[in-house]
Amino acid sequence: MKVLKIEKQNLSGFLDKLRDTYRLYGPVIDGDIFSFVPIQDASQIDLSFQNSRLSPKSLFLPQSERMFEYTLDPSKDDAHVLKEVQKDYSPRAVIGIRPCDARAFRLVDVNFDTPELRDPWWVKARDCTTLVGLGCTSPCSTCFCTSVGGGPFDEEGLDVLLTDVGGAFLAKVLTQKGEQLVEASNDFEPAEEGLVEKATALGQEAQEKVVSKVDTSMLPEIDTLALYGADFWEAVHFSCVNCGICTYLCPTCWCFDIQDETHGRAGCRIRNWDACMFPLFSLHASGHNPRGQKIDRVRQRFMHKLKYYVDTYKNGVACVGCGRCVQHCPVNIDIREVIKLMNEYRE
Ligand code: SF4
Ligand code: SF4
Repeated sequence: MKVLKIEKQNLSGFLDKLRDTYRLYGPVIDGDIFSFVPIQDASQIDLSFQNSRLSPKSLFLPQSERMFEYTLDPSKDDAHVLKEVQKDYSPRAVIGIRPCDARAFRLVDVNFDTPELRDPWWVKARDCTTLVGLGCTSPCSTCFCTSVGGGPFDEEGLDVLLTDVGGAFLAKVLTQKGEQLVEASNDFEPAEEGLVEKATALGQEAQEKVVSKVDTSMLPEIDTLALYGADFWEAVHFSCVNCGICTYLCPTCWCFDIQDETHGRAGCRIRNWDACMFPLFSLHASGHNPRGQKIDRVRQRFMHKLKYYVDTYKNGVACVGCGRCVQHCPVNIDIREVIKLMNEYRE
């Protein structure tokens, strides 16, 4: 693994050079909200953020994604034939992603990229993307990444990890993709020993700043049906308004719905984000809804992330502790409290 550095004053120039070979994405502020968006000019990127409001999952699973198009014109030979929509999968680089969000993509890969099932759009988007992470030196009070397998300087899922060491960024080059990216110009140079030590100290300091802790250790042991029937779901679900904010902001929520949209004789098949919190999400064609009550939907969200995922993939919980759902739930439902209830549940 190479450890390099780039002077801050050279970062903008480097990113502009990158645009010759990569489509560039990074955090940009709009009002007081940061989002990961395509970058036309490196000066748009603002790395002074804590995290983006929406997770960057739309980079791989767009909120609305055109999958196929078709014609209904009977005079055409290909009437009613689904044709894949062509998209741009040329190399792209995402600058400044937080370690928790990069790790989230790894947790979601188990759903979209398995030996049995490969979602072509997810896989192609993952393959063409180089993730340049930015270590968190100031975690939020709602972050609990260190309790769920991550950390503010976690490297999992990243190709390069940047650390702000004052006048420069230290760059840990973690993969082949990362190596190709830093070689795109000669702005990076070997980092001196003192800077490496400084970055290590900053990492340890940040780790200690994550004061919010949860214990998930008992979740694999607890009986699934017993947990499903626990009486605490009554209290947990009571104030939820099924707004879906928690699922839309979450980097590990992956549910989608597929719709056909037809205009005249031209149509396209689109997948859109959906959410288990919405009453129509599990409505069957027969009219039966297995999660017709709010308690069923709230329980599903937490059971999926904290029990079904744990049991199915043996990969820990499907939560990276980013704290978005804690910060933005309008009725203050706090997943950390639900984890505690679930983890401590005894029949
Ligand atoms: S803290 Fe909430 S929003 Fe963040 S990964 Fe966990 S469940 Fe998703
Ligand atoms: S954000 Fe809160 S109120 Fe809205 S669906 Fe999620 S838990 Fe319910």
